Amino acid sequence: MNHSILVTGGAGFLGSHLCDRLVAANHDVMCVDNFHTGNKRNVQHLIGNTNFEVIRHDVWLPLYVEADRVFNMACPASPVHYQSDPVSTVKTAVLGAINMLGLAKRCGARILQASTSEVYGDAQLHPQQETYWGNVNPNGPRACYDEGKRCAETLFFDYHRQHKVDIRIARIFNTYGPRMRPDDGRVVSNFIMQALKGDPITLYGDGSQTRSFCYVDDLVSGLLRLMDQDHEIGPVNLGNPSEITIRELAEHILRLTGSRSRIEYRPLPQDDPVQRRPDIAKARHTLDWRPGVALEDGLKETIAWFKKLVNT
Ligand code: NAD
Ligand code: UDP
Repeated sequence: MNHSILVTGGAGFLGSHLCDRLVAANHDVMCVDNFHTGNKRNVQHLIGNTNFEVIRHDVWLPLYVEADRVFNMACPASPVHYQSDPVSTVKTAVLGAINMLGLAKRCGARILQASTSEVYGDAQLHPQQETYWGNVNPNGPRACYDEGKRCAETLFFDYHRQHKVDIRIARIFNTYGPRMRPDDGRVVSNFIMQALKGDPITLYGDGSQTRSFCYVDDLVSGLLRLMDQDHEIGPVNLGNPSEITIRELAEHILRLTGSRSRIEYRPLPQDDPVQRRPDIAKARHTLDWRPGVALEDGLKETIAWFKKLVNT
């Protein structure tokens, strides 16, 4: 079935890959973005396609377009970017949720929220299950994002209970791949850019903190599965359960790039979570979804993309 689909944050890293898949499936796609951390280049190849349009708009403001599905992806996701203007991050997360839920309510649309593993904060439960309520510092430097996203989940459930809006909530864990910004500040893009340029690899803390990295294609498949089924509203964890230390990640990237960059230790940022790994049993059972791309393969793709960027 052909849908009229609004993707907020559609010119960002995840949003642009999502637009690719939706356009390829012949849906009518409206990409809404204020280009804060996204870039027109990410969707340039789709322009001219009759199924695709770009609308410059800030989700702090109401939007009056018609859609029967909404993916609410708009929000800076890198700690560097979301902490550079924290008040704006809260507004995007909270006002953006209110405005897009209002749109979904008016249109009778199904709406999916790009929530995050950050709702678990510095988790005391490992691996993280959806039933865990989290351990978030409400007034630390990460709170603008973590609490903004937690409040957005609250709004989604309240619109669902109070106004019967058809919601879906994905809790996305660390995802990487082509089209991350070279200056994004997240660990995969930082390490690859540093390795390619021969700059020091900036390892925060002693590198023993863990993350679980999911390749973008897998993640987008999970978002589409969650949106396309009628039974599970979420929250559902989407991520790759294969967990590594950040030091191991640095070593992988050095090996795969053949770089001779040295590792430079930097202070661990405040409230940096110690361990993170999704329990994806719910996604496996309700969506029949699991990631298929091994870290080594995903990193090779990502490195190849950054190499082209550096060489052009
Ligand atoms: P990104 O920064 O590349 O994309 C966010 C997009 O939203 C950008 O195009 C940006 O310009 C746009 N945007 C920001 N504020 C806006 C506003 N007020 N109005 C309109 N557009 C706005 O980040 P991403 O990694 O693609 O993340 C996309 C979504 O997924 C975010 O909501 C993020 O919180 C969530 N998420 C991502 C990850 C990940 O690892 N990539 C993990 C958890 C959650
Ligand atoms: N990190 C690092 N060096 C960098 C960037 C990040 O060691 O140049 C670490 C960071 O402290 C965290 C992990 O890598 O422990 C993942 O950071 P990222 O910003 O990618 O995402 P987070 O999961 O913390 O939101």
